[in-house]
Amino acid sequence: MAVARGRKPKKRKAEVPSGGDPNAPGPDEWADMEPYGSFTITDDDGREHVFKLGETAAVLPGGTKVGAQIPLEKYWIVRILGIRRRKFVQNRTKKLKTACSKAQSQTPEFWVNVHWYYSPKEVKEKIRGFTVPHCSKYERIYSDHSELISPLTFDALVPVMKFREDNPDQEPIFDEQFFTRYFLKTSSDPGELSTYTMGSSTRLQDSVGCLCGGPYDLNDKSPLHVMYMCPRPHCRRFYHLCCLLELGHWTPMTHPLIRLSCSPDTDDIPFETPCTLTAERPPQKTSDAMGSSSSCIVDELVTRLPKDLITLAAQSIVRGAALPNLGITGNCRDVVSARRIVYAAILKGTPAVNEWEERLDVDAAIVESDLPVLQHEDTGKAVVLMCPNCHGPI
Ligand SMILES: [Zn+2]
Ligand SMILES: [Zn+2]
Repeated sequence: MAVARGRKPKKRKAEVPSGGDPNAPGPDEWADMEPYGSFTITDDDGREHVFKLGETAAVLPGGTKVGAQIPLEKYWIVRILGIRRRKFVQNRTKKLKTACSKAQSQTPEFWVNVHWYYSPKEVKEKIRGFTVPHCSKYERIYSDHSELISPLTFDALVPVMKFREDNPDQEPIFDEQFFTRYFLKTSSDPGELSTYTMGSSTRLQDSVGCLCGGPYDLNDKSPLHVMYMCPRPHCRRFYHLCCLLELGHWTPMTHPLIRLSCSPDTDDIPFETPCTLTAERPPQKTSDAMGSSSSCIVDELVTRLPKDLITLAAQSIVRGAALPNLGITGNCRDVVSARRIVYAAILKGTPAVNEWEERLDVDAAIVESDLPVLQHEDTGKAVVLMCPNCHGPI
């Protein structure tokens, strides 16, 4: 492990992302430097902070007053790509030696190659049409903009969650937690912005958004802008409530459990549909695994499963600032987990389910009472939203 003892990072002037550190090695010297897997900073209290390849960290923004306390969201965030040590520190120029602290000049000189995370404001300057207000203040945009910076600018390790909007099993992202959902390619001119998705690569920004082309606005508290998701593998998109209603993507509600027919793991109905679910619907294809179940047995079985489990499994998958209890990722993970438990119970033919309450955040994820009741204007009968892609109930 590499060790670079230095002063407490916050007493060191930080580099700026643009322009770079004039003391940093050039490309030829960097190529010849000795690679390391980690470096350690010792602060004024004698505590050691280890930073490793691949980790994400906070560095003090350029121009920040020495010793200043700044809010967490003001830090610059980097990902560590490479750590190398200069081979001939003793031969470097007098000018550079005087610029170093005593501690630094007595130790091997390490440099860190990083990728910068951009703030939404910085992305706005590079991408036409990108709007800052739809982002969270803890949101950062990962980029291919690399730079060599001194280890002494590092403050602390900071995890940055990856937010894939089409991931039905997306980990929750809590308040004051950095995350990234976009990638900015700065090596092309103009820059290109893409969205992280479940595939191995990113895809264009608007391909996971609503029919209106609008992105997921994390600060829009309008109940009509709550987004509803179809979890089926070939859909996995969220749509604004108002867009679904305006464009006619709704149908009469035939059964309160109708949404159980939308599975995150198959584009078909995952079990022989319960009698009452099919009463007013055309025949549907079923997956091979569940196709042999008797529909009436399934219907009866579902009614014997725990009420909260069924309520959770059959409710809409939603997200939006109007539902702050769900956090920015919404209730998707809990709802699809509940559906999988129900499907497994149907497959086994038994209503016995174990420890399901420990695996699901039932209190937070059941939001029926927070959602508008959808009724037909004339008849007053309940309606259910439909996925614009597969026409399944969502
Ligand atoms: Zn929309
Ligand atoms: Zn769908």
